[in-house]
Amino acid sequence: MIVHMDFIPTRAAALAQLERFLPHAARYAGQRNFDLGHGNHHGVSWLSPYIRMRLITEEEVTRAVLAKYSARSAEKFLQEIAWRTYWKGWLEMRPEVWTDYRLSLETFHRSDEYQQAIHGKTGIACMDHWVNELSQTGYLHNHARMWFASIWIFTLKLPWQLGADFFLTHLLDADPAVNTLSWRWVAGLHTPGKHYIARASNIEKYTNGRFNPAGQLDEQAKPILLDRNYERRPLVLPNTPKPQGRVGHLMFPEDLAVPPSEIGEIHASAAYLPPDLETSPRVAGFLNQAIYHTLSERQGSQLEGDFTTALEDWIAEEKLDSVVISYLTIGTTKDFISKYALPPNIHTFVRTWDRLLWPHATAGFFKLKTILPKIHTSLAPVRKDDLFPDV
Ligand SMILES: Cc1cc2nc3c(=O)[nH]c(=O)nc-3n(C[C@H](O)[C@H](O)[C@H](O)COP(=O)(O)OP(=O)(O)OC[C@H]3O[C@@H](n4cnc5c(N)ncnc54)[C@H](O)[C@@H]3O)c2cc1C
Repeated sequence: MIVHMDFIPTRAAALAQLERFLPHAARYAGQRNFDLGHGNHHGVSWLSPYIRMRLITEEEVTRAVLAKYSARSAEKFLQEIAWRTYWKGWLEMRPEVWTDYRLSLETFHRSDEYQQAIHGKTGIACMDHWVNELSQTGYLHNHARMWFASIWIFTLKLPWQLGADFFLTHLLDADPAVNTLSWRWVAGLHTPGKHYIARASNIEKYTNGRFNPAGQLDEQAKPILLDRNYERRPLVLPNTPKPQGRVGHLMFPEDLAVPPSEIGEIHASAAYLPPDLETSPRVAGFLNQAIYHTLSERQGSQLEGDFTTALEDWIAEEKLDSVVISYLTIGTTKDFISKYALPPNIHTFVRTWDRLLWPHATAGFFKLKTILPKIHTSLAPVRKDDLFPDV
């Protein structure tokens, strides 16, 4: 039985987790591939549910690492932080990858084999274990996610889209861009012809012998054939606004961080959690609590019910002249909000981190990785007390 590991959905918990992890950041490259089981994921940071909601931002984590280490000694960890940014930027320029994936979900028959897989009854011990670990904790180690996706696609011969959907429902860090594109990467659709094959020997080595599915995996499978060529669209980002008068900050679960300082004074804060995000009760609870705690810290209001009515009421109540929102990246929240016509006094801001890095997500990760040292040099390191005042 897996004991539930609590990710506490607050910024204070995110900062505490970062502080706990920082002494290990330089050893990350050597340890990150080992999945030693639930409760023993000490080689990795466990920061993703926090970064995913921007209870702590990629830039803050990067600055904190650079305040303690040289960019070279923590290079691998700093690069992993940038992978999320890469996937998000890449998807922004190919929105049809997301729309096709979402539409395709309607077309698949949820077969007996699929039911067995999602209920941990495949007979492949590691796979059945990971299904339970994921449903019971909302977290899986990166290597387990790679093995899981590979076994799902190449051994169980199930559609990658249904596996991605299962992850999106159960992961506390469920991120439409990272999840969809990682599944496509494993399938061999991101870099056509290059797929990720889970091998029993690799699983045995990196689970420290906990699992060895020798003879149970298809280790010879061919990559999934490219479904469609997605043309890259230009990345068009709005200029960060300088709103006038009384300004409200409206948040969605994608970004709970405070707005950039150039926005100026914020007079009121609110958040809206779209009702149909199709997550597990555990994930829904995590998102709700994260919003609740964030709003408590900022004396903000949670908007509920019909989105436009709630928004208009809040604007009127707070006598707001304008409202700022963080740029909504491709995904379920954006799909939901796009159904509504937003009032003209809503302004979108783009965080500097995204603005600097997304334009380099045109092709493979290598291009973005190459400019990272330059970005790192441009970031002034934080002093420890700036980031951890109360922890
Ligand atoms: C099939 C598949 C699906 C995935 N789905 C998601 C998802 O929905 N949401 C999600 O946040 N991550 C996803 N990942 C990426 C990765 O597994 C997680 O970000 C990581 O395991 C989170 O745990 P951690 O914070 O302890 O990781 P650490 O290894 O400590 O990494 C630190 C941070 O770097 C970033 N990061 C690390 N690895 C990756 C990666 N491969 N891609 C993008 N960012 C990365 C994350 O922000 C993470 O919090 C997926 C990977 C695979 C193979």
